[in-house]
Amino acid sequence: MKTLRILLVAAASLIGFLPALAAGEGRGTVQKLYVLDCGDSETKDLSIWSPGYNVGKAWKFSDSCYLIRHAQGWMLWESGISDAIAEKPEGVVVGNGMLTLYVRKTLQAQLRDLGVAPTDIAYLGFSHFHGDHVGNANLFTSAMLFIQQAEYDAAFGPEPAKAGFNPALYEKLRANPVTRLQGDHDVFGDGSVTILSTPGHTPGHQSLLLRLPKTGAIVLSGDAVHFRENWEQRRVPARNFSKEQSLASLERIASVLEQENATLWINHDKEQTDTLPHAPEPIE
Ligand SMILES: [Zn+2]
Repeated sequence: MKTLRILLVAAASLIGFLPALAAGEGRGTVQKLYVLDCGDSETKDLSIWSPGYNVGKAWKFSDSCYLIRHAQGWMLWESGISDAIAEKPEGVVVGNGMLTLYVRKTLQAQLRDLGVAPTDIAYLGFSHFHGDHVGNANLFTSAMLFIQQAEYDAAFGPEPAKAGFNPALYEKLRANPVTRLQGDHDVFGDGSVTILSTPGHTPGHQSLLLRLPKTGAIVLSGDAVHFRENWEQRRVPARNFSKEQSLASLERIASVLEQENATLWINHDKEQTDTLPHAPEPIE
């Protein structure tokens, strides 16, 4: 029976579907999800993310982190913009003026308000290693890090700057226990939290499928897409690592949404993020 299941799972992954769970296996043991405000940013030219469209249009992005309470422990997905930016209420300009970053309330303070210490985080993942996602990564040194092999090589190899990464923000993770992935991964083995390989924005970009007890299935986009219009029009930012992979990942996400009857939460879509309950209010 076990061999059969392994074969079925292998076959399912080959044809690109998520493994179906056998009857009786537990699903949805995520107890709670908290959306944290991990900063925001603004640009004077949205067309950087949608080449040929929205030229010269000013835009505001949200930046979210997600704290997941699972029966097996706390998991953090994304760590947002560095808490150090909170000391500059006027914001910090990055990328030759491309973006101004703000942090209104630190991640550490939001975790403290929930009674969670950084060392309580046992499971850690990031959609990718750009600075607005790993800004506070160095706080979580006792967690198991889940990362695609391709992202690991880009972030911890000899040329992180080539991928637009700043190792100072995450160098302490070198000593963390790490699970290197080459594709999807069921984090707790019960189907409640599944990392989806969605490369393109960076070499090893990943998204997260959550199955919540009341809310149902949600896919956390990472930067597979930055705002709704780009999702609807399937537009890819010019600076992405691979346009071809990016487009394939958007289609992959679309098929997961359909298969799971899931809702897409776009990390940087401020309009959508503003509608979500934020910590300390839990989402079940
Ligand atoms: Zn981002």
